[in-house]
Amino acid sequence: MDYEGRLARVIDGLDDNEIDALFVTDLTNVRYLTGFSGTNGQLLISSNGAVFFSDPRYEARAADLVKSAEIVIYPNRLRDVLLQRVKGESAKRLGIEASSVTLAERDDLAEHLDDIELVATKGVVEDLRRFKEPAEVDLIRQAIALSDEAFSWILDRLAPGRRERDIALDLEVHMRSQGAEATSFEPIVGSGPLSAHIHHTASDRPLATGDLVLMDFGAQVQGYCSDLTRSVVLGSGTQEQKAQYATVLAAQKAGIEALGPGASGRVVDGAARAVIAEAGHADHFGHNLGHGVGLDIHEAPRLGETSEDDLGAGDVVTVEPGVYLVGSGGIRIEDCVLVTDGGAEVLGGAPKAELIAIGSGA
Ligand code: ZN
Ligand code: ZN
Repeated sequence: MDYEGRLARVIDGLDDNEIDALFVTDLTNVRYLTGFSGTNGQLLISSNGAVFFSDPRYEARAADLVKSAEIVIYPNRLRDVLLQRVKGESAKRLGIEASSVTLAERDDLAEHLDDIELVATKGVVEDLRRFKEPAEVDLIRQAIALSDEAFSWILDRLAPGRRERDIALDLEVHMRSQGAEATSFEPIVGSGPLSAHIHHTASDRPLATGDLVLMDFGAQVQGYCSDLTRSVVLGSGTQEQKAQYATVLAAQKAGIEALGPGASGRVVDGAARAVIAEAGHADHFGHNLGHGVGLDIHEAPRLGETSEDDLGAGDVVTVEPGVYLVGSGGIRIEDCVLVTDGGAEVLGGAPKAELIAIGSGA
């Protein structure tokens, strides 16, 4: 991973952000810039380079992982060593990450800063994280291979009487046994009417014949996430369920076709949403079409009705339309897609051509 290059890009952008130094506290941003993974680590970046802070618990790990920054281990209070460094850099305007610093932390810093001005910044590192290097795409592909394989594997384990929680646990254990270091998030398994709950967590409801079963899950490889949703039916499936599935699949296809460098996140969302509206389900798709995926399961950019993001080569986004019918069930189909110079490439290949019918004897 090109940590030096990433830090150089942050340093290049300091002037544009009208700051002399940036204090990075978001742990994912710290990981992106240094390779450090742990629960406590910060980074001070100025034209003089980068200083990484952590406490003695992480001394050995930091020495192992952090090669792009000077390492400062503080036994007591971060604020003291930080301010010492900031003053030493003669920085006048210090950027802090608005989405990560609490008001209490900001006030505490402000109280001890003397003539240094705190500037709230947004998205400085997140915007860089959007455009994946080939090595990052490779890790995302590995994570996707794990979730794709888990989907094929789980199909034989879906049966009436098994609980949503059993399925979620199976998915997690299987992905980890196959090499995932963690799941990207707690697997969502929604069955029957619960599949229409967009952000359901797996419950103890037993699956029953006739149920739509929605599974949304992902694996992590070296911090990089995959995000996959497939919907299947227990039994042969009704005409209505098949039509609902066909609508969602067509919407996903329209969204993927609209993706490419320069496409707006709003327009891509609209392309998929129009297909769903056309089928009479405008009121049954109540979430964004997709989101960026990388070290975080949800990151920039966003594909949605109010998105202001334009896509660029290197973005990895999900395309995940759904139709959720309260009382009967929901269907969502989600894949990760890489925006390329020439268009877009669907990463992974979990089957989706038609609604998979489990145990129908067919
Ligand atoms: Zn998902
Ligand atoms: Zn997603």
